[in-house]
Amino acid sequence: MSRFWSAIVAGLSPYVPGEQPKIGGLVKLNTNENPYPPSPAVAQAIGAELGTNGQTLRLYPDPQSAALRAAIAEREGLASEQVFVGNGSDEVLAFAFQGLLAQSRPLRFPDVTYSFYPTWCRLYGIDFETVPLGEGFALRVDDYTGGAPLILPNPNAPTGRAIARAEVARLCAANADWPVVIDEAYVEFGAETAAPLVASHPNLLVVRTLSKSHALAGLRVGYALGQPPLVEALVRLKDSFNSYPLDRLAQAGAEAALRDQAWFERSRDAVVANRAQLSGELAALGFEVLPSLANFVFARHPAHDGAALARALRERGIVVRHFASPRIEQWLRITVGTPQQCATLVAAMREIVATRPR
Ligand SMILES: *Cc1c(COP(=O)(O)O)cnc(C)c1O
Repeated sequence: MSRFWSAIVAGLSPYVPGEQPKIGGLVKLNTNENPYPPSPAVAQAIGAELGTNGQTLRLYPDPQSAALRAAIAEREGLASEQVFVGNGSDEVLAFAFQGLLAQSRPLRFPDVTYSFYPTWCRLYGIDFETVPLGEGFALRVDDYTGGAPLILPNPNAPTGRAIARAEVARLCAANADWPVVIDEAYVEFGAETAAPLVASHPNLLVVRTLSKSHALAGLRVGYALGQPPLVEALVRLKDSFNSYPLDRLAQAGAEAALRDQAWFERSRDAVVANRAQLSGELAALGFEVLPSLANFVFARHPAHDGAALARALRERGIVVRHFASPRIEQWLRITVGTPQQCATLVAAMREIVATRPR
């Protein structure tokens, strides 16, 4: 606290991201990064973009990110006017909260979901109502049909559970007078995308990121798909905030990543296979593991406290995410790593579960 702070800053409760450990050698399964390196085309494109001695960095980047937006539009079968890009999907989401989800009715989202949503609501003064998830943290679409602005991650975080595209269509139709934002941060690992609904639903905004699906969390590139009036809302905010949210290297690297479909499919298939293996091995140790369509699993052990398990793993150099929040304090969110990382985690869990009762 300082007397120089504005009232806005004094009233904030910032989001706390998962730890990025400063010490090496840890098995890092806490922030849902992709365990595989990105497409080699990314580093090549960034090198080419830099030019000799980085001379291109003298010049500002394209404020519209036209080439990147064209690559996204092509991949989705949409027009460039239906694509917005930002500095990570967190920035795109922040614009969507301020520009679309601040309405005369309270915004609705699940009680167990991405914990950044209430932070943005407080930042922008948006009223919100949380809707309890059902049995097994399943999202009940019928609970969201009352006519209100909505935001949902699909698959949901941190549960990993997804709803079908037809259910997203039902949500858009039932809330046709309000914006519906679907946060598809993990959709590429097996859930159905709502992108094909954009053409027929003027209230739908689909938000994606390259952080997880394309192993580019460090490059900070996210995007949104929606009809031109929704995209224009985000552009108006961007151009009132920062004309150049994506630097030259991010634009070039992201475009190269999106154009390497073969890399994407190989890496996705590996993560999906590792997820099945990890889920099975945790279940064999007695864990309850939710059916995940994301690049993490959400699991709890009936006889071991969630926070204690996370601490015991940390003592063995393994980092997972534990949320000290209502309903989920017994659960761990574990990123799907390489087969070796998963094996290290499972071996540690086997020991901990055998030796440390609750
Ligand atoms: C990781 C994540 C994001 C943010 O991703 P960026 O790295 O900012 O693109 C957004 N929503 C959910 C649900 C996430 O898990």
